[in-house]
Amino acid sequence: TQRVVIIGAGIVGTNIADELVSRGWSDITVVEQGPLHMPGGSTSHAPGLVFQTTPSKTMSSLARYTVEKLLSIEKDGVNCFNQVGGLEVATTPARLEDLKRKHGYATSWGIEAHLISAEECIQKYPHLNKDVVLGGLLIPSDGLALAARATQLLIERTSKAGVRYLGGTPVTGIEKAGRRVTGVTTPNGTISADIIISCAGFWGVELGAMVGVSIPLLPLAHQYAKTTAVPSLVGRELNKNMNGKNATLPILRHQDQDLYYREHGDQYGIGYYGHRPMPVVAASLGTTSANVDEKNMPSRLEFTEEDFDPAWQETKKLLPMLKDTQIADGFNGIFSFTPDGGPLVGQAPGLDNFWVAEAVWVTHSCGVARAVAEVLTTGRSQIDLTECELSRFEDIQLSRDYINETSAQNFVEIYDIIHPSQPRESPRDLRLSPFNSREKDLGAYFLELGGWERPFWYEANRDLIKSLPAEWRPVERDAWSARFHSPIVAVEAWKTRNAVAMYDMTSFHRFEVSGPGAVHLLQRLTTGDIATKVGVITYALLLNDHGGIRGDIFVTRLEEDLFQIGANSASDFAYLSREAHRQGQWVQVREITGSTCCIGLRGPRSRDVITSITSDDFSNQGFPYFTAKHATINGVPVTALRKSYVGELGWEIQTSAEYGSRLWDAIWNAGQTHGLIAAGRAAFNSLRIEKGYRSYGADMTTEHNPYEAGVSHAIRNSKWEDYVGRSSLERLSKTKPTRYLRCLTVDDGRSMVLGKEPVFVGGKAAGYVTTAAFGYTVGKPVAYAWLPSSVSLGQSVEIEYFGRRIKATVTAEALYDPDDKRLLD
Ligand code: FAD
Repeated sequence: TQRVVIIGAGIVGTNIADELVSRGWSDITVVEQGPLHMPGGSTSHAPGLVFQTTPSKTMSSLARYTVEKLLSIEKDGVNCFNQVGGLEVATTPARLEDLKRKHGYATSWGIEAHLISAEECIQKYPHLNKDVVLGGLLIPSDGLALAARATQLLIERTSKAGVRYLGGTPVTGIEKAGRRVTGVTTPNGTISADIIISCAGFWGVELGAMVGVSIPLLPLAHQYAKTTAVPSLVGRELNKNMNGKNATLPILRHQDQDLYYREHGDQYGIGYYGHRPMPVVAASLGTTSANVDEKNMPSRLEFTEEDFDPAWQETKKLLPMLKDTQIADGFNGIFSFTPDGGPLVGQAPGLDNFWVAEAVWVTHSCGVARAVAEVLTTGRSQIDLTECELSRFEDIQLSRDYINETSAQNFVEIYDIIHPSQPRESPRDLRLSPFNSREKDLGAYFLELGGWERPFWYEANRDLIKSLPAEWRPVERDAWSARFHSPIVAVEAWKTRNAVAMYDMTSFHRFEVSGPGAVHLLQRLTTGDIATKVGVITYALLLNDHGGIRGDIFVTRLEEDLFQIGANSASDFAYLSREAHRQGQWVQVREITGSTCCIGLRGPRSRDVITSITSDDFSNQGFPYFTAKHATINGVPVTALRKSYVGELGWEIQTSAEYGSRLWDAIWNAGQTHGLIAAGRAAFNSLRIEKGYRSYGADMTTEHNPYEAGVSHAIRNSKWEDYVGRSSLERLSKTKPTRYLRCLTVDDGRSMVLGKEPVFVGGKAAGYVTTAAFGYTVGKPVAYAWLPSSVSLGQSVEIEYFGRRIKATVTAEALYDPDDKRLLD
């Protein structure tokens, strides 16, 4: 059995111990610097509001399980969740609209939700000021976690099951042998471990530093205050000690003023996010002393009343009966924020058996704990963790400056209405492709991802809108879907389908896998047969043991022992590197994204452009589809890959970064006589969707298998080698899927959806949209959606968008060139 050491006995650490023990793991030690009865971390004072609904399916699912589990942790007839419901009120028209969007998310993720009128809000919550509330969103299953009590009950039950708890024991060091962690040091000696799980909350940075792992979180203080007793609430039965269940009204959010509320018996609790970010360095707080109590703990700083002033004024407007109260007790409580707002879960890249579960809210705590236990015991969590993976960050995102700035920004924006495409304003220009100055000259509109500046469209193409044939003219969009979008995209799509366009593909991840062990590694990890001739490109899937899709990659055999991988994320690189090390045979995985650059030249005239600047053979025979070769373009050594994610003839042309601008100029100049334009990501995405190509992370995740997701063509059953997920695939191939990823076209030809909206079949919520775009070639909005397999082609469905139902039809794919004629000629 594996020896596990968990660092931290907050709501996360104790839950992981519980989830592991219930799966039969027996050698578990939890090391906690504070006293066990009140460790003094964020959990010790968490007011415990659980609002489950977010734009993220993963986060909402983690929250749903947390509610389920807290309801099941019981002692003396009282469980650990007070299911009073959750109410979010709107006091501005924009918020009222946004609640409709949020209602859609709840429906997509299977959480019962109701949009209610201002009158209904007052009925549900009589203390609200009817003059300011415009309406609300009510989630009956939300409520209050009794987090500190749950932690104590978990310690009690897991101790009985054999988990050892060492209170008052700070971890002061972590021991390593090579890439493996081997134990933790404490003032009482070393505890050996096969697996270490750091659940140190906002101390995570310090724990990571002990093994050289950058933990991208920023501890920030957040204000929470209790009022004096509200005269009208004094004397209620509820105020007596009910093991913490001292509230009946729904938990309340007033996001327009960055506020939230709960009852504490006859007092009110008020949480505020509107104040200035107050960063804290955990190391400066010292270790927890033995005499931690309600008022003294390292995670609790002095209340700064002046910061709370606006909150108090706004509170009295929303809840007028609080005018008769004062602030009885306030504090600035510390917890973790991250660059993208997500938690940090998973194995540290570059290190074996050092796991992290940090920056986790109480709301998601049990869900995260189950996920970690599932991954450790079975290799897969039933809820996709892509958005939570510690390995999702790029190097530039792991610098302290970046972490501090972006995490503080997340605090500021926590309750803001954020458009799904909205870029951060700062820091920007962190990673620039060598084409950046040319792109700026053409008026590129950039959106950022992973630090990269990526052009979405080019203002230089605006004049061409006038020349668009009638059937290609962009339709007018609603105000929300028109944000971070331009009608120019229609031009760029049209040019790609009818002439030629160049796309900056630099930011797509490229790795090299090399050495005598390379073939074995890639055969073992992918569904494709990559033991091909040199120069062949293979599209393949990375699966987990259960046949769930953990990534999709392009594998190009450039030499006998050299493969280039086109991948989606930094997590793919962490996975391949880890497996390469584990394999032991000589094989190296090297990141080459930033040292190289790539232009995607696409469209029926791309061959005309390229042949005018190279003497290499780019004919159909000399350079067939899905092959690659080294070539020279205008004197620049390049690697050209004949593949195209937009469904047109084309090449991805790569070179090392220093030749980038020369390559761009050569292609640009040669293309002018053929109608070449530069085109951006927005057109790319639209063309991809028309062609039915999947986008990993949005269309499909670890929760889906290749048969459901429509990518079984990437499985090579003929290959003899065993690979991760193969036996599961054999089983899955024999059972009919219960759901499919389906292509929907919008009937009215104009109503846009953006992704994550619920889909209704026969009036019932039955699935959700993954990705969507206007399909310029087909002249309609197109959406992909997960739907039950009983839904058939041609069937009519409805998509809910801001409370409105949009009719759509399940349509056979690919919508564009299903026979690949455009690609193969
Ligand atoms: P913690 O509870 O902080 O546990 C980490 C533990 O690790 C600590 O006990 C610490 O002592 C221990 N530790 C650290 N370093 C070491 C070491 N070197 N050796 C040994 N032990 C160590 N979340 C919600 O979901 N809803 C809310 O309404 C909500 N409101 C909040 C309000 C406030 C004012 C604050 C501060 C937080 C709030 N949160 C809320 C956030 C929530 O409290 C935290 O995200 C959550 O409690 C974190 O749990 P944890 O187990 O990861 O961390």
